[in-house]
Amino acid sequence: MTRHVVVVGAGPAGLAAADAALGAGARVTLVDEAEQPGGQYHRMLPEAYAAARPERLHHGWRAFDARRRRVLAHPRCVWWSETAVWALERPDPAEPGPPRVHVLRGPSDGGGRDRHVLHPDALVLAVGAHDRVLPFPGWELPGVFTAGAAQALAKGERVVVGDQVVVAGSGPFLLPVAASLIEAGSRVREVLEASTPATLARGWGRRPWELAAQAGKAAELAEYSALLARHRVPYRTGRTVIEARGDGCVEEVVTARLRADWSVVQGSERTVAVDAVCVSHGFSPQLELPLAAGCALRATPAGEFVEVDGDQRTTCPDVYAAGEITGIAGAPAARVEGALAGWLAAGGDRNTVAVRRLRSSRDQGRAFAARLARAHPIGAGWSGWLRPETVVCRCEETDYATVCRAATDESTSAPRAAKLATRAGLGPCQARMCGPTVAEIGARLRGPGVDSRDIAGLPAPGDDDHTIAGLPPASEHRRPIARPIRLGDLAATPETTATTPETTATSPSNSLTEESSS
Ligand SMILES: Cc1cc2nc3c(=O)[nH]c(=O)nc-3n(C[C@H](O)[C@H](O)[C@H](O)COP(=O)(O)OP(=O)(O)OC[C@H]3O[C@@H](n4cnc5c(N)ncnc54)[C@H](O)[C@@H]3O)c2cc1C
Repeated sequence: MTRHVVVVGAGPAGLAAADAALGAGARVTLVDEAEQPGGQYHRMLPEAYAAARPERLHHGWRAFDARRRRVLAHPRCVWWSETAVWALERPDPAEPGPPRVHVLRGPSDGGGRDRHVLHPDALVLAVGAHDRVLPFPGWELPGVFTAGAAQALAKGERVVVGDQVVVAGSGPFLLPVAASLIEAGSRVREVLEASTPATLARGWGRRPWELAAQAGKAAELAEYSALLARHRVPYRTGRTVIEARGDGCVEEVVTARLRADWSVVQGSERTVAVDAVCVSHGFSPQLELPLAAGCALRATPAGEFVEVDGDQRTTCPDVYAAGEITGIAGAPAARVEGALAGWLAAGGDRNTVAVRRLRSSRDQGRAFAARLARAHPIGAGWSGWLRPETVVCRCEETDYATVCRAATDESTSAPRAAKLATRAGLGPCQARMCGPTVAEIGARLRGPGVDSRDIAGLPAPGDDDHTIAGLPPASEHRRPIARPIRLGDLAATPETTATTPETTATSPSNSLTEESSS
């Protein structure tokens, strides 16, 4: 019988998964809340723009475009754009198989969206990551953007966030952001990488021959660096934005030199006049759907990610994970993981040469993720930038002093109690932005010797202090409702006969070529 594979997310990982699953003969339902496939890396302009050169600001456009067309036109594929998965429902223990997939179809802020429930034979989760941003005084001023948002506006709307911009934070992502801003018409005053030269050298310089496998990424970085040089944009390391100032909107930023632990070198402060600042301190994987499915997570120095085996299988039966939810390694690695996950979820042969090659590329991607995490760690000294009144949770306007008080008071230090006491994480973003920050502040204040589970706000294995009978362990990523749903939509009877892509005469291609994963 033809397997029905549901792929959630049509970014580099999800699109590759759909392509490979179709190649293995499955019926595929590909869903994404965006209007077009591409995810963050290939964020496309809306169709209404009828862009003459949609490939501007993109890398690897031709391969992406060919894959996009192949997948969307495939007779065994159903493509559902503007479709959000808002919940996963685990089947009865007696019922085998992956969770049911609850989706809402229609523009994300529209009313009367259609509700459907999908019953896949296998599920591939490829929902990506979102920006991680550390707070600093003034970060709530208009004109302060996450680098991802600035990038999304530049790539997806051709809108610039300002004329005079500083890009700051940590990680290679700062470079494409600065490049997109320049290409879209901003003047980038400087790009500030918080990692010190010594940390960068330790992370990137170790076993340099391993980087040969990432030649494409190196070429991309070289291109960005050349663009910055042409526009005389300084790229400074060991320096960051520690404050934004302005009357009603950002007018200047204070930058400072940092030590390896990101504490400020006193006296190194400088002010730069800007009308916008873009900050990024890495990415947080979107883990609510994997958690809802029941997938185990693994703790790493860079945070928690979905645990997968050598076949991209999660710990939940027939649920696969690919891309940035399993580790932050960039679009090429996400594509490889997606291809592997899609092929195997569809029941493709595990032992072909192509699958072996994909596994080895995937391992290189994981090594790259570890290197990235080593070169761009968040230094523990960043909380020294904060003042008692600095807002930490922007949705609920919870300040640093309140978070500290809750963390050091025995009765409110457990994650759930801290949330209720401070309201941090209870607003519209549901802790997507402030969750890691609050968890980290709490763990540091609770004392030395914290491990990465503590940093993530999770109880250590066997530690019952923070668990409540009948409730799953606290996690900053646990959101049973992954996307907002109106009560009217929730009350509507869902369609259950959702996707029946036509069973067609097209036969599976029995090979998974390297080309389809490139
Ligand atoms: C804002 C942002 C901008 C970025 N820009 C760049 C860049 O320009 N260059 C670069 O090298 N790297 C960029 N990155 C890093 C980038 O995320 C990865 O390298 C790459 O895109 C990861 O691929 P992915 O398929 O794992 O995830 P993504 O590309 O993030 O794709 C995930 C897809 O899942 C969809 N999705 C998520 N949740 C749901 C849901 N509940 N229901 C339905 N659909 C859902 C999203 O709409 C998205 O299309 C960016 C990251 C972010 C967060």
